[in-house]
Amino acid sequence: MTTIVRPAEQAAAATTTTEGCCLCQSRRQKLFLDAKQRTVVECEDCGLRALSPMPTLDRMIEINEETVHPFFSACLEDEESYRAYFEPKLDELQRIQPEGRLLDVGCGAGFFLDAARGRGYDVSGVDLSPVPAAHARDRLGLDVTVDSLYGLDAPAGAFDAVTIFQTIEHDPNPDALCAELFRIVRPGGVLMVTTPAADGFVARVMGRRWFGYRNVEHVSFFSQDSLRHALEAAGFEIELLEVEHGKKLSMKYVLNRLINYYYDHRTFLRNGLRVLHPAMMVLGKVPLFEPWAHLYAVARKPGAPESVIPEALRA
Ligand SMILES: [Zn+2]
Repeated sequence: MTTIVRPAEQAAAATTTTEGCCLCQSRRQKLFLDAKQRTVVECEDCGLRALSPMPTLDRMIEINEETVHPFFSACLEDEESYRAYFEPKLDELQRIQPEGRLLDVGCGAGFFLDAARGRGYDVSGVDLSPVPAAHARDRLGLDVTVDSLYGLDAPAGAFDAVTIFQTIEHDPNPDALCAELFRIVRPGGVLMVTTPAADGFVARVMGRRWFGYRNVEHVSFFSQDSLRHALEAAGFEIELLEVEHGKKLSMKYVLNRLINYYYDHRTFLRNGLRVLHPAMMVLGKVPLFEPWAHLYAVARKPGAPESVIPEALRA
């Protein structure tokens, strides 16, 4: 949920390119949104919307450090909602990849991994943020590495399933990220992705005012088309791609996200929430549902391991 991946080749420079689409490298980009400190461009070839110029990786890590604590505490309080949200994901995963080694990229506090372990998967996680990772390790006893996906340096084909929830949009290099995901999934293995939907109901209704564009942790904004492009360009075959509906949230979670969206007003918002605290104790329990807000994709790396061995050579 909070991982920013740092491609090894960029670690030294800690800067990202300001020219060309960060997914397909096309130079055919048009201005989509020009707001205070946040300019979003849209690629005319793959459709990806992304910040321009892309913030440096060091700046993204700084922002992540500043925002992870309120977000993490909200996650812990919303543990039940998260776990309920992940159950159908695990049902789906069990239908297509019933067992094996599973890596969750950007695993956060480890709720998904914990549930996946309960279903019999051999689980591990990676997350750049030490605080949620410590929760996953110390409280849930999970195998979680504090690093980027690149730093994990997993062997090729190491996992039967890789999940990456609400993380791809943090990465200044989604093409490199998808290539790395493809590399570490075994032939025939499965990738499961969620990310905010820039073509979802709320985003369409709000247009350029969509709060998704204000999320300071997010640098790219995927639609069904651009997510399809990202996964297929990496080599995956898409089995499911949809805008999902109805993730349950608490008011407290929503207000914490607002602090993130309106980051430049964060002191004002936090003070306001403090004043409203008695009301928040009641409102914080009110469940809300996100309408068609996230993309959900299931993809497979082509080729089952058996198919590597020619028919004639098999015993
Ligand atoms: Zn593009």
